[in-house]
Amino acid sequence: MDGTGTQVGEQTRRWALLLAAGVLGVGAVTGAWDDSPPLGQPTPGHEASAVALGAPPLVPFPGTGYRFLDLQDDGLTPVAWDPCRPVHYVVREAGSPPGGRELIEAAVGQISAATGLRFVADGATDESPSPARPGYQPQRYGDRWAPVLIAWQTAAENSDFATDVVGQARSLSMTSPGRPAVYVTGQVSLDAETLAAQLTAPGGSALARAVIVHELGHLVGLGHVDQASEIMYPRANRVITELGPGDRTGLARLGHGPCVPEL
Ligand SMILES: [Zn+2]
Repeated sequence: MDGTGTQVGEQTRRWALLLAAGVLGVGAVTGAWDDSPPLGQPTPGHEASAVALGAPPLVPFPGTGYRFLDLQDDGLTPVAWDPCRPVHYVVREAGSPPGGRELIEAAVGQISAATGLRFVADGATDESPSPARPGYQPQRYGDRWAPVLIAWQTAAENSDFATDVVGQARSLSMTSPGRPAVYVTGQVSLDAETLAAQLTAPGGSALARAVIVHELGHLVGLGHVDQASEIMYPRANRVITELGPGDRTGLARLGHGPCVPEL
């Protein structure tokens, strides 16, 4: 499928917005994002390999504490990233707390290991997060889907961070006629001030990393769960800072998504 003409109109786009509640503990908000990004899409199949680039690990003790953000039309299969191509990401490092880059790298490493998805760091950017961020920005990123944008934000830039929310994630899924929906890009915003303060406390590094892992969990397709033993529980806490059995089971399933070179 090419992306020209009427096929663009046949495709659906959806931004899922997730707000992770924070250390201070307000419930999370989940909802669809209604602002469609501008039309346009790259030449299909950028970097698409014939086979998955990696494989999720076998989870020795599968858990049931996981939920998917989006399902395919069958109502069962999760929407996931294409495992046959890398997930590129850029980081807006302005305002990062000390060690922020290492925290992001560690969190990305955990999600990559748990899903088998291959993440590629494309370096720094000065792009600002936006709910209406276009999924395709050829002037900035070339003929491909825009990389995932990870940014540190203050409450002055993002008023949600004036509340107890400490992180947000959005992913953009696309469908091509007759093919499964697949995530093609996304955004993660991190509360720079709250997490910087957390990092000065004992155990703060593990907690801050867990917040980022939680947001990346959303990015790859996990929703919130009711089990406080899982990292996808909507409130960060000092006890659970590692992926739980449900998290790992859900992430492994998300690593088995279909390859969709038509996008
Ligand atoms: Zn969340």
